[in-house]
Amino acid sequence: MAYWTQRTVSKRVSATGVGLHSGKPATLTLAPASADAGITFVRMDLGVEIPGRNEFVVDTTLSTSVASGKARIATVEHVLAALHGMGIDNCRVEVDGPEIPILDGSSAPFVCLVREAGVKVQRAGRRYLVVDQPVEIRDGDKFARLEPFDGFSVEFTADFDHPLITNQAFRAIVNERTFEREIARARTFCFRRDIERMQAAGLAKGGSLENAIVVDEFSILNPDGLRFADEFARHKVLDAIGDLALLGMPVLGALTAVKSGHAMNQALVRKVLADPAAHRIVRATAESGSTVRHPAPARLPQGQVA
Ligand SMILES: [Zn+2]
Repeated sequence: MAYWTQRTVSKRVSATGVGLHSGKPATLTLAPASADAGITFVRMDLGVEIPGRNEFVVDTTLSTSVASGKARIATVEHVLAALHGMGIDNCRVEVDGPEIPILDGSSAPFVCLVREAGVKVQRAGRRYLVVDQPVEIRDGDKFARLEPFDGFSVEFTADFDHPLITNQAFRAIVNERTFEREIARARTFCFRRDIERMQAAGLAKGGSLENAIVVDEFSILNPDGLRFADEFARHKVLDAIGDLALLGMPVLGALTAVKSGHAMNQALVRKVLADPAAHRIVRATAESGSTVRHPAPARLPQGQVA
């Protein structure tokens, strides 16, 4: 399960859909990229490339947006989570509009695209960001903490003022198998009470029961219900994986997050990158690759807080 060489997609693959917040249709293409190129977003209609790294993040209101100059791409976190979760180091993510299509609101359609393209193993050793010291962002009862760990694990506790999402926790040791089986299918969610407010602010114009879980005071409005009983916490784990992907390379560390969101996750990424004592970047070799372990998946029982 451990990869010590970099990976890209084998060929170009595309999907079309609307942006959740803009409501605008867009075609997304995943294309191969050379070793050490990382993930690059490309506004095809403007001819502008935007590296998928923290310093290009310009907005974290409900979704994460990256920009270079005036060229901006919104809602990058679900495709980033899919690429990161599937062990893709280098990829051009091309889009012909201002937002990545939301598709079904999860990372599953992007995982399907990676599967359709196939994976090409590259010769260069994989670079990892190794967390050497705990780094934490705290704001009242919300926090996000990265600490040293021999692998990549993410634990999220969601605690909304809502009977269906009270103290819901999910933890996974993230690798290709656990990502695809336990995380990728979890959809984004919103509260009916927030929809009018979001639409008045010019957001969620493309939102529907086809691409988000919608919750009212007591129930799930989607006719088919949930994909997992703890789908909310799983989606927050998915979002956090996408947000940490903006470190620019896979991370060896454990993220523990309670009630955090895109803004706090990016603040954590910035704090790690700004602290040379807290992290180092290593390049895996055939020998070191054997020490980069991806242990078996583990999860907390629903509702348990570590
Ligand atoms: Zn999300």
